[in-house]
Order: sequence, then structure tokens, then C-alpha cells
Amino acid sequence: MNCNEAGTLLAQYADGEVDNLQGRSIEQHLRGCGACATKHEGVLARGAQIRAKVPYFPAPPALRERVRALLANAHDAAPARPRPERDRWRWLTGGALAGCTATMLAWTLGTAVITWHANEDVAVEAVAIHHRVDALVDLRRLRHLTMKSSARATASTAIAKLADC
Ligand SMILES: [Zn+2]
Repeated sequence: MNCNEAGTLLAQYADGEVDNLQGRSIEQHLRGCGACATKHEGVLARGAQIRAKVPYFPAPPALRERVRALLANAHDAAPARPRPERDRWRWLTGGALAGCTATMLAWTLGTAVITWHANEDVAVEAVAIHHRVDALVDLRRLRHLTMKSSARATASTAIAKLADC
């Protein structure tokens, strides 16, 4: 404990309003610090002067009991205070969770739609390629048949020429 900390607690210490740990820290500081020990003696002297000069009127026992009863009832009847800080964090957490969920849902749906369109495009392309391949195969067969018939015609012509000889 330093002088500033001791200085703020000297009046409370003189009135017996500090806890045991603070009291021991102040006592230890006062044993090692003459300036604070002098301030403490001043506080004690002022308290003694006030007690000596100001009349003291003790509260009547009935008033004392009424005050104690009111304090006890007030303590028992005190409604539980809401915890706004905790509620705010609950709302923030819920909002953040809802935002994350909405983002994930949008991402999943968007990806599914894009994949679906991509598959649809691939299917259309596959059908188009299939038709082109069929047309190409038909064309090749036609050429093959054409070549066969032209070869047959050439062969027949050659055979006929040979037969004439
Ligand atoms: Zn000091």
C-alpha cells in the first residue's frame, strides 16, 4: 500500500469501516510511514473533538426497532433486479447466430441453384453432342454406302470391259 491508497482510506479506517485485509495493510503502512501516521493521528483527533463538542442523541428504542424492521422488509421484498447487461449479450449472441444461420442458408441455396443450372446446361450440351454424333455417324454410313456402290459400279464397269476383251 502506498501513501495515496492509505490517504484515501484513513478516515474509513479511523471509523472502523475497512475490511480486515485493508486494515492490516494500513497498519503496516502507518508503522513504516511517518507522514501517514501523522495524518492518521489528525483524523483521530478531529473525530474526538467532534464527539466532544457535538451532542449525541441516541435513537429511541422504538425508532431503532422500526428502522430495523423496515430494513429487513425492504431487503426481503426487494424485487429481483433485471440484468440488462446479460440480456443485451443474449440478444447480441442470438442476433449473431441468426445472421450466421441466414448466411449459411443463403450460401447453400445459392450453391444448389448454381449447381442445378450447371447440370442443366451440361445435360443440354450432352444431348446436342449426342445428336451431332448421330448425324456424323449417319453421314459416315452414307459415305461408306456411297463408296461401296461407286466401287461396285467401278468394278462392274471394269469386269464388263474385261469381258468385252
Ligand atoms: Zn504513507
